[in-house]
Amino acid sequence: MTNVDPQELAKFSELAHRWWDTESEFRPLHQINPLRLDWIDQHAKLKGTRVLDVGCGGGILSDSMALRGASVLGIDLASKPLKVAQLHALEAGTENVTYREVAAEALAAEAPASFDTVTCMEMLEHVPDPSSIVQACATLVKPGGWVFFSTINRNAKAFLFAIVGAEHVLQLLPKGTHEYARFIRPSKLAQWCRNAGLELTDTRGMEYNPLTKRYWFSGDTSVNYLIACRRPA
Ligand code: SAH
Repeated sequence: MTNVDPQELAKFSELAHRWWDTESEFRPLHQINPLRLDWIDQHAKLKGTRVLDVGCGGGILSDSMALRGASVLGIDLASKPLKVAQLHALEAGTENVTYREVAAEALAAEAPASFDTVTCMEMLEHVPDPSSIVQACATLVKPGGWVFFSTINRNAKAFLFAIVGAEHVLQLLPKGTHEYARFIRPSKLAQWCRNAGLELTDTRGMEYNPLTKRYWFSGDTSVNYLIACRRPA
């Protein structure tokens, strides 16, 4: 297996025990979760569907999609976050969510066209070859199904906001969480999606106000953004 950076996995494993602490380093993920969950649910109508969450970490999104009535499989390559995710599901009594340590590419070979929806949030910017993950997601989703990605744009403003601002000034995230060289322009992500046979349906920007400490969706994709795609039926 080559499409993984062990240092990236180590970063998330080290902090894994704090994943469900809403005041920890994972606070931003807890804060953005209701926004992205509603957006995904509006498009894909989660209730009663089969969903795959790629790079699920401690399971913040996976768990919330299961609570909306989907049957969710969360996958990641970092064992500690996966254990935390499993433990959280047990403690919270969340049904219909399971977790597995498997690469997206390996699962795509094992179970193509198996999921109504595939989500892959805040993960592509941690992988050596993100286009291979995009291709795997496109293979894993059923014809007519939805694929959602979120990541960070690549430009001077994204560097200033996502690294200088979030890690150094506001200290919302630990220093070294993100590496500028791995940031992805929306046009690049769109190209990978099209190459994988996905059709782009929706793009959203996500903004943060450090004074009110609130996030919201907007048309401004210059820093954080999300895209929704469909595999043609
Ligand atoms: N998607 C979750 C977690 C984001 S944190 C959320 O948005 O709430 C990024 C996650 O990507 C971490 O859990 C990390 O272990 C995982 N990750 C990094 N490289 C990976 C890879 N190559 N394959 C699978 N998961 C990976």
